[in-house]
Amino acid sequence: MGCLFCEIAEKKRPAKLIYEDELAVAFEDINPQAPVHCLVVPKKHISTSLEIGKEDNALVGHLFQVANKIAKDRGIAERGFRLVMNCNPESGQTVFHIHLHILGGRIMHWPPG
Ligand code: AMP
Ligand code: ZN
Repeated sequence: MGCLFCEIAEKKRPAKLIYEDELAVAFEDINPQAPVHCLVVPKKHISTSLEIGKEDNALVGHLFQVANKIAKDRGIAERGFRLVMNCNPESGQTVFHIHLHILGGRIMHWPPG
């Protein structure tokens, strides 16, 4: 079985790409849960956050920097936004290639569902 987000990162599958550099891509979530809902995805395949190793420290920091840039570009940085990385089934993870959800443009509730 291929990996959906590897395929998007490799342009083998369409997505509404909003950002790309040598390490990561970002695109619109296909099933948005907020007015802004994008995903930041490393080009390197890492299946869950449990598999993030020391060698990935810079990469993971980069994902947050990309997310910050997108939040600023979309005008939600000052209002507030949520970054989420689900891990494993009980969290709701459905795509086993790590990704940061950027959610914003509405009030977020806590605790999450
Ligand atoms: P998670 O449940 O945390 O693994 O998040 C997976 C996210 O990927 C969900 O919010 C889905 O709506 C989204 N998603 C699934 N397939 C696609 C796709 N082809 N393009 C964009 N987003 C997708
Ligand atoms: Zn992958």
